[in-house]
Amino acid sequence: MPTESNTEYDPSLGNKFIFVTGGVMSGLGKGITAASTGRLLKNAGFDVTAVKVDPYLNVDAGTMNPYQHGEVYVLEDGGEVDLDLGNYERFLGVDMTSDHNITTGKTYQHVIEAERAGDYLGKTVQIIPHITNDIKRRIREAAEGTDVCIVEVGGTVGDIEGMPYLEALRQFAHEEPEENVLFVHVTLVPYSKNGEQKTKPTQHSVKEVRSIGLQPDVIVGRCEDRLERSTKEKIALFCDIPTEAVFSNPDVEDVYHVPLMVEEEGLDQYVIERFGLADEALPREERTTEWREIVTTEKDGEVDIALVGKYDLEDAYMSIHESLKHAGFELGVEVDVHWVDADEMADHHTERLERADGIIVPGGFGMRGTEGKIEAVQYARENEVPFLGLCLGFQMAVVEYARNVLGLEDAHSAEMEPDTPHPVIDILPEQYEVENMGGTMRLGEHVTVIEPETLAYELYEDTSCSERHRHRYEVNPEYFDDFEDEPLIFSGTAGNRMEILELEGHPFFFGTQFHPEYTSRPGRPSPPFLGLVEAVIEETEGDSGANAEAESETEVTH
Ligand code: GLN
Repeated sequence: MPTESNTEYDPSLGNKFIFVTGGVMSGLGKGITAASTGRLLKNAGFDVTAVKVDPYLNVDAGTMNPYQHGEVYVLEDGGEVDLDLGNYERFLGVDMTSDHNITTGKTYQHVIEAERAGDYLGKTVQIIPHITNDIKRRIREAAEGTDVCIVEVGGTVGDIEGMPYLEALRQFAHEEPEENVLFVHVTLVPYSKNGEQKTKPTQHSVKEVRSIGLQPDVIVGRCEDRLERSTKEKIALFCDIPTEAVFSNPDVEDVYHVPLMVEEEGLDQYVIERFGLADEALPREERTTEWREIVTTEKDGEVDIALVGKYDLEDAYMSIHESLKHAGFELGVEVDVHWVDADEMADHHTERLERADGIIVPGGFGMRGTEGKIEAVQYARENEVPFLGLCLGFQMAVVEYARNVLGLEDAHSAEMEPDTPHPVIDILPEQYEVENMGGTMRLGEHVTVIEPETLAYELYEDTSCSERHRHRYEVNPEYFDDFEDEPLIFSGTAGNRMEILELEGHPFFFGTQFHPEYTSRPGRPSPPFLGLVEAVIEETEGDSGANAEAESETEVTH
């Protein structure tokens, strides 16, 4: 199974499945726990993938509000999925497809379409077996060609929405050889007022799991600290599992440290042994320590990035936060991100930006906050503050330049201002006819051709890049001529589409119509983010260097 390349699949051993459920409450970070375990299995030489089950009725996350659900993560194939998939991609270092996000909407849609097509030959179509069979099929297909597949069920055990999935997992386990399936239940272990670790919530949630016919093999207790031995023993006794199968998952300062914690607790080794894979796994001393090295890089100094967005919720911009962390690992700096309300900025003007070393204007939809974003771009451009514009941020950089440099009064994106005299950003030509809101976007990975001898070329070190997209509007070809001979150049294109902009003579002014944040990984930071943070470091060092020089000059003259 593990091979030199770590990617070959030996079908004789079949897939192993880790089914992850959550108890007590959502938001415990069971996705991170599962992804971390997956990462360690990968380090041990196994090819690991993941499936996220979202028991909601939406077909995909494309139409969901980031304020409720966090960002919509975009996959290579254009799938608009739950942000947990982003965590799996970042932790496992794999690229997944839409098939790795199973939703109730997708499953029901498929089954109902089959029913309408007469595929069920007059039978009564039911949750059991038709929906459950479809769920099992999807899991099996997503796991194909890998050694271990982690299946995380969103929500909390006991939710009505989750029931068909848990039943499907029960059947799945029943159909598989026992050593191929492991149930992991992640639960909360709170402290009582007098500082005691309380196991009752865990006992109740395991009772709930068992009432559905499932028995956890492993219990992971999320707690402020490590679980005490006596807490583990209590959980083991009441939940009927060995004490060795109870693991702590205490709070850590950075999610990237969770794999280190999981390894210290020995969860990865336990899983390997339970799967009977001990002989196949690389011996511990041969496992790569790359992850540990990356995420524990010494940090020397910190930089402050202003993120000018609409949502006061870190999860709404998760991949951007992560990309900045990846750049920080690479460059050995702590990247602090402070959110600036784009809406408020129009009133407070630029004072909120003044303490920032660099500015990011992220993607977004709709009118709210756009004037603030345009102001942020202007501030960055005029004050030579390193700037990165992503998707809508790229578009607003074009609008700002059109208005304030080219003198195209009231220029705007037709998305925000359909009657603008200068729609420098307009709808994609092929979509004039398409009315339906869902499914009209340019999504997923597309190639951008990069002009040599540009900043884009310097960053990507290549004449092309493949990045993920999610947009409906783009630079209007009717205005290409207006940008000719300007210091603002489009250094990346895809046919007639403008994909990258940069401003000559500015320390770092870079915008992308695509979303580079979706492909950034620890150890493989996204070039535009790396470029931004590097420019910020240079600028701040330059400043202090200049100050130091000024000071020493003062010394001489006095
Ligand atoms: N709203 C813009 C468009 O549809 C930008 C989208 C985005 O930032 N993801 O083109």
